[in-house]
Amino acid sequence: MDEFALIDHYFRRRGGDGVALGVGDDGAILVPPAGREIVVVVDTLVAGVHFPPDTAPADVGWRALAVNLSDIAAMGAEPAWMTLALTLPEADERWLDGFCEGLFELADRYRVALVGGDTTSGPLTVTVQLLGHLPTGTRLLRSGARAGDRVFVSGTLGDAAAGLREAGSQAARDDDRRYLLRRFLRPEPRVELGRALAGRASAAIDVSDGLVADLRHVCESSRVSAEIEVERLPLSPALLAVAGPEEALSLALAGGDDYELCFTLPPGSEPPAEDVTAIGRIGPGDEGRGVRVLEAGRQRPAAAGGYRHFGDGP
Ligand code: ADP
Ligand code: MG
Repeated sequence: MDEFALIDHYFRRRGGDGVALGVGDDGAILVPPAGREIVVVVDTLVAGVHFPPDTAPADVGWRALAVNLSDIAAMGAEPAWMTLALTLPEADERWLDGFCEGLFELADRYRVALVGGDTTSGPLTVTVQLLGHLPTGTRLLRSGARAGDRVFVSGTLGDAAAGLREAGSQAARDDDRRYLLRRFLRPEPRVELGRALAGRASAAIDVSDGLVADLRHVCESSRVSAEIEVERLPLSPALLAVAGPEEALSLALAGGDDYELCFTLPPGSEPPAEDVTAIGRIGPGDEGRGVRVLEAGRQRPAAAGGYRHFGDGP
């Protein structure tokens, strides 16, 4: 199968809301609904860097879109169109079948239309660019947090980082380990929550690098500080079953890839969904202080140096 036959077979799909011209010409033509502005995000997954090289193709397809949906969610937007730049070592039809199954399962769920892309040969690399839209004036930014706001997070934290450790191991897996691995391979982006927060939350970010690292971005953009209490962090029973209490906390604070939303709400404003937890509070700007992690009311020493990527924890 050459490049053009491959595009035709796997990636030419008709229709989609607002698609005036899709796959097949030099570019796509899109028409946003009246009164809405466009949000554009893009993310690249490189085999061996962002996922283990032997990851099932359906999981790669799902994940490539899921990480972008998570960014769109963090902006408060409704996803609509995507482009796909695919670099493949070979035109492996079984791999492509699996990849499309995962990609389009998630795309169909959120009514995202594939409107174009690029297909090349080389080391396995998947880039999805996703476009969404939101009513003008309802954008959700990192920069709006104010002292006194409460800090929330959706779902549970640390699962994906724990799951990633299981990805390479072929050892017999119990239900907890399977659950955690799935949290890594098949993240569930918080699209509905993001849309509900638009025009309501003062700031939002998706948790891709780890809670402390990502909340620090909110603090920097908003010129505020934040305090979170480890006792409040939402931890799944599966995480607590496979990790000791201290390890579970470090994964929740510093483990990446959860794709939950961390957001701030002004005092008196209640979160729109049940599956969110209040974990702390925004304080005044204080150069260099950033995010303080409190345990039993005292600052956790390891947090002083700053959690960054998974692997850099205490
Ligand atoms: P060009 O040479 O003009 O850049 P291509 O030959 O790369 O065009 O692509 C032909 C058409 O197929 C274009 O509409 C392009 O957007 C689409 N396309 C190419 N690769 C993909 C892909 N992986 N997914 C979706 N559409 C693709
Ligand atoms: Mg062209």
